[in-house]
Amino acid sequence: MPAVKANAYGHGAVLVAKELNRLGIMASCVATVTEGAELRRGGIKGEILVLGYTHPEQFYMLRRYRLTQTVVDISYARLLNAYGKKLKVHLKIDTGMHRLGIPADRKEEIARVFHYRNLVITGIFTHLCAADVRTAEKEKFTMGQAAAFDRVICDLNQRGLSCGKIHLLPSYGLLQYSELAGDYARVGIALYGVLSKEQIWKAVE
Ligand SMILES: *Cc1c(COP(=O)(O)O)cnc(C)c1O
Repeated sequence: MPAVKANAYGHGAVLVAKELNRLGIMASCVATVTEGAELRRGGIKGEILVLGYTHPEQFYMLRRYRLTQTVVDISYARLLNAYGKKLKVHLKIDTGMHRLGIPADRKEEIARVFHYRNLVITGIFTHLCAADVRTAEKEKFTMGQAAAFDRVICDLNQRGLSCGKIHLLPSYGLLQYSELAGDYARVGIALYGVLSKEQIWKAVE
């Protein structure tokens, strides 16, 4: 699931997503609903996941442009459900970045979201935010994130709930921890041949 947000990191979102479509890649992710709409208007096919918050006044765009919205927290799940029309969503689980996502230890609340009648849950994900270099300390943190995410998936499966597409790896996750692969990897920076900040420092040293 290539990350084509921020105009594909400046390279041209429609241009890049079109080429990826041509190569058979039928999923992508963007930051905002406006970016998603731009891709659809440019003829991009497949699943388009909006990673950030969409204002309720723009919920209609999710349906008009067949976009999948991220559930960024529990109260937002309620808000999306209250829209009254079916919306496709992926649940974001917070396993340590503490920016967006439902905390991984809120198992009951996560399970309850599956019973919201207007939410069509087609995926679940987390973000490994310390994967760029594999030092002992960062590896411990990253493995802890992956384990917490795994416990959420197992809990949902035990309840008979199906999670859809599972994804946790950004570029450096895929490069450094490919053993943790899921159904998708959300690859941005690596797609464009750019190094992470840490890797640039290593390269110039
Ligand atoms: C931007 C973004 C990515 C892509 O990250 P890269 O480090 O550029 O590969 C992955 N996941 C989320 C949630 C993002 O916002």
